[in-house]
Amino acid sequence: MNEFSLIQKYFEQLTKNRDDVALGIGDDCALLLPPPDHAVAVSIDTLVEGVHFFSHVDAESLGHKSLAVGLSDLAAMGAKPAWFTLALTLPELDETWLKNFSSGLAKLANEHNIQLVGGDTTKGPLTISIQVHGFIDPTQAMRRSNANLGDMIYASGHLGDAGAALQLALQQLSDDALTDDDKAYLQQRLERPTPQVLLGQNLVGLATSAIDISDGLVVDLGHILKKSGVGARLNLDNIPLSTSLTKLDAKVAQALALQSGDDYELCFIVPPQHYAEVEKRFKGQVTRIGMITDDDGLFYIDGNDQLIELIGTGYDHFRH
Ligand SMILES: [Mg+2]
Repeated sequence: MNEFSLIQKYFEQLTKNRDDVALGIGDDCALLLPPPDHAVAVSIDTLVEGVHFFSHVDAESLGHKSLAVGLSDLAAMGAKPAWFTLALTLPELDETWLKNFSSGLAKLANEHNIQLVGGDTTKGPLTISIQVHGFIDPTQAMRRSNANLGDMIYASGHLGDAGAALQLALQQLSDDALTDDDKAYLQQRLERPTPQVLLGQNLVGLATSAIDISDGLVVDLGHILKKSGVGARLNLDNIPLSTSLTKLDAKVAQALALQSGDDYELCFIVPPQHYAEVEKRFKGQVTRIGMITDDDGLFYIDGNDQLIELIGTGYDHFRH
């Protein structure tokens, strides 16, 4: 089977057609019609076998995650997903793999009404690049540079689950305290993350700044602090942990929640006039974890506002 028929078979009819696609897969370029008064938010991510995922990860989960990481970036801007392109580098033509990969991809894509509008395939070590496109009013986008003194810091969902799954897989963490259900839950958090797309869109107008937690809360919040020229205090008693994570040693769980990535939850910043509405509207879904300060960097505090530890003033982490 040649490259053209391969793409055609698995990817041409993968996603539902949108009205704003004048021409989709099958020509030199797609022709897309963004709505007036909106910016097109664009982001690209590459996943490489052995670097970003284990070789044994099933293809359907990989299809899901490859798109989920891009959707998560759109969520962090508050953008509404519209289109994506896919560049696939494959070591061999494995139809079962392609079928499962495209199935995982299609399910998540159709859930978010995002259409595949172009792609490319090459032979080589397994590598997946997806570029996502979404719509956002540029004046409303949640930029990293918008945090101000006195704003509150929130996180969605639970943090540290994906990191725990990764450490379990690498046998760097004891699973003695975990049931099979806990382990399955954690693994699913790592392999099939849920991008917070709807939350991101609903935060537009309430949150001024946001980031998706791909590299770990401390690192990712650090990006907001650096871009905004502010400091922060994180209340360690308020970092949201899943029931499974709380079964681990408390210090280990806390370190995972602060420092491990791949959760794809949102960390976002809310100014004083919107605290009440955010806490009412997203009750049970988001947690207040700290506040923006004029401190020089990021500090930890406990429930009594007592300083625990300085984390550091530099944010020059190079992780991926
Ligand atoms: Mg991101």
